[in-house]
Amino acid sequence: MADLQLDAVTKVFTERDGNQITAVDDVSLTIEDGEFLVLVGPSGCGKSTTLRMVAGLESISAGQVRLGDTVVNDSKPKDRNIAMVFQSYALYPHMTVRENMAFGLQESTTMPDDEIERTVESAADMLGIEELLERKPDDLSGGQQQRVALGRAIVRDPEVFLLDEPLSNLDAKLRAQMRTELKRLQNDLDVATIYVTHDQTEAMTMADKIAILNDGELQQVGTPLECYHEPANLFVASFIGEPSMNFFDVTRDDSRLVHDHFRYDLSNETGDELASAQGELVLGVRPEDIDLQSTPDGAHTYATVVDVVEPMGNENNVYLTIGDEQTQTFVATVDGMHHVEAGETVYAHIPESAVHIFDRQSGHALR
Ligand code: ATP
Repeated sequence: MADLQLDAVTKVFTERDGNQITAVDDVSLTIEDGEFLVLVGPSGCGKSTTLRMVAGLESISAGQVRLGDTVVNDSKPKDRNIAMVFQSYALYPHMTVRENMAFGLQESTTMPDDEIERTVESAADMLGIEELLERKPDDLSGGQQQRVALGRAIVRDPEVFLLDEPLSNLDAKLRAQMRTELKRLQNDLDVATIYVTHDQTEAMTMADKIAILNDGELQQVGTPLECYHEPANLFVASFIGEPSMNFFDVTRDDSRLVHDHFRYDLSNETGDELASAQGELVLGVRPEDIDLQSTPDGAHTYATVVDVVEPMGNENNVYLTIGDEQTQTFVATVDGMHHVEAGETVYAHIPESAVHIFDRQSGHALR
């Protein structure tokens, strides 16, 4: 088993009219043996292209992909010992589940038939699909087809697993169940895995490490909690977390941050920490870090009017407006037992310890 390394990997597509698109721009990543890395980002950011370059399905314009000490840029897909599971499952409709799972081994190895048989049955057992082995893909549910696609990858005993949005065709309940199953399976197999998704919940719940991509460029690599608590820039801050972090445009005036509708006083300690933060800034605060009070009590507490309440069961998302023109809206996530109503005035407390500060121009996090 080996680490997988992407070293300054770039992909430039040339369109028919000669226009060039940099789909993946200078991406460097290490996925350690046994590690589950989730590559996440909005549609079109270059996730699939990155995965396809690792799998050998797309040529690499610049940089290197290494498996252990071996550069695999020019190796054929079947020689890379990498297995990929696609969103569409790509099962052969005329073959049974057993034949689908055995096919790759028959094609690419010299494994004797009886050993192939044993390998398929053991993978089927691991995935709980022994009873489906004689069925055809069309007779299976989406979740079952997904397991077969995984089975086909597992039997190859690969050094690296690549999964491209494998759960996106499943309904929400099954997706949540498969999330746990997949995570457990990856733990058991202990194989370096890249899992591509645009769903930040999947990223947060499944990853050992998250890599966040935007416009082909890597924004941050870290554990889910690092990316949540210490986002490197505005993009990561808005992408990770649901509902998204609230942002307020502010300027620095000595020991204060000045917004059109409120002033945020900084303690001496925070002021010193932010000595270099001048000019146009963005104050960020997560909805779950805002407390709502019925009276204005203490510092950093602002009068707001409830616009909409979105009950989530155990929590309520409370959309608020601040300022006379009610132009700035933001959201607080509070306990489901905390009742407030549209039109009511409440006081939002934004604790200093929860405040993130970004440079407005570069987007970089300053705190
Ligand atoms: P999604 O989540 O929608 O699948 P993605 O993050 O996987 O998106 P990619 O499919 O990797 O994104 O595409 C990245 C960029 O490269 C996009 O702008 C896409 O239009 C472009 N692209 C992908 N394949 C090609 C191609 N064969 N020729 C030209 N441009 C391409």
